[in-house]
Amino acid sequence: MIRCTFAHVDLDALESNYRALEAFLASHTPAGRRPPGIVAVVKANAYGHGAAPVARALERAGATMLACADIEEGIALRQAGVEVPILVFGALSVSDLEGLFEHRLTPTCSTPGAGRALQAAAARHRTVLPYHLKIDTGLNRLGFRHDNLERTLPELFASPNLRCAAVYTHFATADDPSHPLFDRQLERFAAARAFLAARGLGPVTTHAANSAAVLRAPGTWFDSVRPGLLLYGLAPGPFRDVLALRPVLSLRSRVVAVKNIREGESVGYGGRFVAPGPRRIATVPAGYADGLDTRLADRGAVLVNGRRVPVVGAVSMDMLAIDASSGPVYAGDEVVFLGEQAGDRITVTEMASWIGTIPYEILCRLGSRIERRYNRA
Ligand SMILES: *Cc1c(COP(=O)(O)O)cnc(C)c1O
Repeated sequence: MIRCTFAHVDLDALESNYRALEAFLASHTPAGRRPPGIVAVVKANAYGHGAAPVARALERAGATMLACADIEEGIALRQAGVEVPILVFGALSVSDLEGLFEHRLTPTCSTPGAGRALQAAAARHRTVLPYHLKIDTGLNRLGFRHDNLERTLPELFASPNLRCAAVYTHFATADDPSHPLFDRQLERFAAARAFLAARGLGPVTTHAANSAAVLRAPGTWFDSVRPGLLLYGLAPGPFRDVLALRPVLSLRSRVVAVKNIREGESVGYGGRFVAPGPRRIATVPAGYADGLDTRLADRGAVLVNGRRVPVVGAVSMDMLAIDASSGPVYAGDEVVFLGEQAGDRITVTEMASWIGTIPYEILCRLGSRIERRYNRA
């Protein structure tokens, strides 16, 4: 590939984040107890970083399990050579379930309908399928409602071809220390686990903590933690200083054209940037088709020749313009959208704040056209 615009994925930083997490878990686990295992979340193409190399690196680092969004992602992980167990988060009530069996994926059972579909498929395969049971404690998305288990679980537990291997829940507000729902969810989860134990199901492997919960509350760690974001070097706002994390992805390009415009002339579609004086405008071959948000227009900045330079005018499909008037700029100069240049750094979190979104979205929307380059195999 010879495109100017590419993402560099630092697998050493990924491993370093994994090790930092391991050390953190170990240091907060009481003596004599085993620290929780790590279910490394690699859904959505490993948050845009590239599922196969990231998954292999996390497996090598020691992840006890990987987790993905759907069966198709799980199959791609197996095809990349991943051997550790793979948990599928998604609802499976209307999915083609064959891949679960052929590729040894562990489904989540999160609705009675999914339970029936999984039981029927496992019976067809004449096997007993281990699954993770998801309890909805207040996110109100997927999972068996915590206050309705008496009614919904007996049928699932009577399924002869299914075996509950773990129980889990997912937090809605772990990244907001002031929100009362977090503690409510934890209480409801405790009650649900007590219910399961009373039904003879237990003690069963338990997990709950996303990145924010990992950093916030060791009481959510149980047998395994389930982080995504922090492995990629990003900590949810309030917990930014808990762990020393290294950003994994940087996004770079090059100036491909430079021109001078006169006062009053505009730049780009819609003429939305009007030069307040003579300006030197540089064109960069990356646009919204590459995942650069259109809201970066007149709001974002990039690093060029060690300076912060504003994005001006509309972001187009395949390119955007920057106002590089503050210093020399030539075709071929490196442009950094995310990452470090000459001592300055644009973080994913900073870019997200410019356009009013979350870091997850910035990463996951990086386009398929962008080549990911890795610093090891
Ligand atoms: C995405 C996801 C995670 C990881 O969340 P982070 O905030 O990235 O750590 C954990 N559990 C479930 C069910 C998820 O969907």
